[in-house]
Amino acid sequence: MAISFTLTNEQEQLKQVARSFAREHLRPLMAAVSQETDPLQRALLLRPVMEKAVQAGFLKSLIPAPFGGTASSGVDAAIFIEELASESPDFMISMAGPLIALAPVYEVGTPEQITRFVAPFLADKGAPLAAMAYSEPGGSANFDAEAPAEGVRTRAVLDGDEWVINGSKAWASHLGGWDGDGPDLMTIVCRTDKGVSLIVAEREHLRGHIDVDEYYDLPGLRGCLTTRVTLRDLRVPQGNLLGTEGDGVRLTRNAFQASGASIGTFSVAAMRQAFGIALRFAQAEKRGGLLPIIEHQAVADILADAKGKLEAVRLLSWSALDAVISGRPGASELALHAKIFGSETGLDVINDLIKAVGVTAYDTNFPMLRHLMDVLAYPIIEGGNVGVRRRQLQAMMSVPAYDPLAASGLS
Ligand SMILES: Cc1cc2nc3c(=O)[nH]c(=O)nc-3n(C[C@H](O)[C@H](O)[C@H](O)COP(=O)(O)OP(=O)(O)OC[C@H]3O[C@@H](n4cnc5c(N)ncnc54)[C@H](O)[C@@H]3O)c2cc1C
Repeated sequence: MAISFTLTNEQEQLKQVARSFAREHLRPLMAAVSQETDPLQRALLLRPVMEKAVQAGFLKSLIPAPFGGTASSGVDAAIFIEELASESPDFMISMAGPLIALAPVYEVGTPEQITRFVAPFLADKGAPLAAMAYSEPGGSANFDAEAPAEGVRTRAVLDGDEWVINGSKAWASHLGGWDGDGPDLMTIVCRTDKGVSLIVAEREHLRGHIDVDEYYDLPGLRGCLTTRVTLRDLRVPQGNLLGTEGDGVRLTRNAFQASGASIGTFSVAAMRQAFGIALRFAQAEKRGGLLPIIEHQAVADILADAKGKLEAVRLLSWSALDAVISGRPGASELALHAKIFGSETGLDVINDLIKAVGVTAYDTNFPMLRHLMDVLAYPIIEGGNVGVRRRQLQAMMSVPAYDPLAASGLS
């Protein structure tokens, strides 16, 4: 993009459409989600709203234009994600499965694979789901370990012209689909004879070969349908292997680039909501004193610092998503910074805003804690910052030829 920080007319319109949808549909959805105690029933509340979003073309807007969707700009994606995630990050995460699961299809899929695997997400109907089945119950930070006994333990073995897959997967949204029979598409990170590989299972393969063992009851992002599943003698055609056997570590890392960058935007959405709540409180509440608490310098300082950090993460995330979607060199580094810095800044900022509001914020009826519970997830989802993301930055910076100016295109 030419460097400009003014929204175009089209971006202004995109923001308005997304904001109206979020207020009309996601706000009441979240009120309903907050009342439901069962994690499955809670997640099922999202389905009719997702159908509306799909009909409105929102899902297509997450699929790059060369593959039949309408996504052409990372900044557009960031504007759209921020609006929806401000009302319901749960909903946005649930709809964004294809952002990760289809990324390796775009990268190395054959024309036939691209047509077949992307089709359900271009149909503008239903509530199609895609899951990137990377995480496993025993840990996933070391998924790149060479030895078969470590890292990825889900195993795929060729039997004639089919892969037979056995293993256990966890945490990825919608592993079990809406009904326990699996999502429309699951990209499975598994171990084959030649190393870690990616194999796609479609719903017709999953039915009868997937068991949902547990529904996680998350403290935040409560509408996300998050499970632990067993894949049992799952058979998929040999032709569903993505790229070459053994290329799965690289493809998996790349798959989490766009979603990693977007975590910065999810964090912005949470900070934006929490900041608005704290600001209104500080402007209105005197707490037994003579003046609204914003007149106390210490309170105003917290608000000012929070706003500055929010603005910084928003621009970093725009830049990272723009780099990823347009395939610029440096995209992977910017995506890592947006993920790590964005998520950890979001957590710090909301924690500080809680201190500014004081004890009122600790009441679950006050709308602040919900955002803390959401943002608490961001350092640990999409590849945890400690075990996955910082190690990737370390690997980049350890290369003697690493150029610190390259990510910004200023070499
Ligand atoms: C709402 C939600 C959505 C998610 N979506 C997905 C998804 O779509 N797909 C998916 O596959 N997963 C998903 N996850 C899981 C997420 O991606 C996790 O980050 C991933 O499972 C890795 O977890 P971890 O980093 O905690 O690693 P673990 O392997 O569980 O490691 C735990 C901790 O051990 C330490 N550690 C382990 N090894 C090392 C090492 N080599 N170096 C340094 N420290 C180490 C680190 O402190 C690390 O945090 C989701 C999770 C949630 C909550």
